[in-house]
Amino acid sequence: MERASPRLLKLVILGDSGVGKTSCLERFVNRRFSLQYKATIGADFLTKELEIDASGFAPESVAGSTPEDAAGSHSDDGSPQQSEQLQWVCLQIWDTAGQERFQSLGSAFYRGADGCALVFDLSNSDSLTNAESWLEEFLLQAAPPVPSAFPFVLLGNKVDLMRSRGAACEHIRERALAWCATHHRIQFFETSALENIGIDQAMTALARGALHYHE
Ligand code: GDP
Repeated sequence: MERASPRLLKLVILGDSGVGKTSCLERFVNRRFSLQYKATIGADFLTKELEIDASGFAPESVAGSTPEDAAGSHSDDGSPQQSEQLQWVCLQIWDTAGQERFQSLGSAFYRGADGCALVFDLSNSDSLTNAESWLEEFLLQAAPPVPSAFPFVLLGNKVDLMRSRGAACEHIRERALAWCATHHRIQFFETSALENIGIDQAMTALARGALHYHE
């Protein structure tokens, strides 16, 4: 039997320069990490096709959740999901090419987005504060029809640095959790592009959220 063509979803990735947006995407799409600083990807977006289980998205219950919680294996009441709903999707993921320094991404970047990944650096408190501004900027520019239900994920990147910078990072992490708890549509993931932690879970959860947003 022929497989139906994939559902196209446009996702955007936003956050301060240097937090690791391109590195997370490189890890997710191309399965690699480079320590060289910001080679622009030379394209507006990257694409990745994958099959996701669309059955496990519960926006009301996931604020501040761990990646394990958000992986979609349990329903609202905690019981295992009875049936998977596999859906083939083509993610078109738009990254910035450094213009975020000037907050001038242009309307094409935001237009028609189905989901948004906000990234901050767990070792940089300002980058978390600015993630909140990026969310407001997104809502202003993309103007989604139902802002309160729009799918966002928050990636606290560079979690590998927590080993060396423990207490400072921990404080920033607590702030991120508190912020997500007040914005129920946001799922929080600790990630490391360097060590390949949490990125697949975060992007898959976002794709799942984008599918449900359109239902
Ligand atoms: P962008 O400007 O947000 O796209 O950030 P980049 O992806 O260009 O990354 C900025 C810098 O952070 C680069 O030097 C990366 O190597 C580094 N970086 C990215 N992700 C991680 C991570 O998970 N851990 C660590 N330790 N460094 C990272």
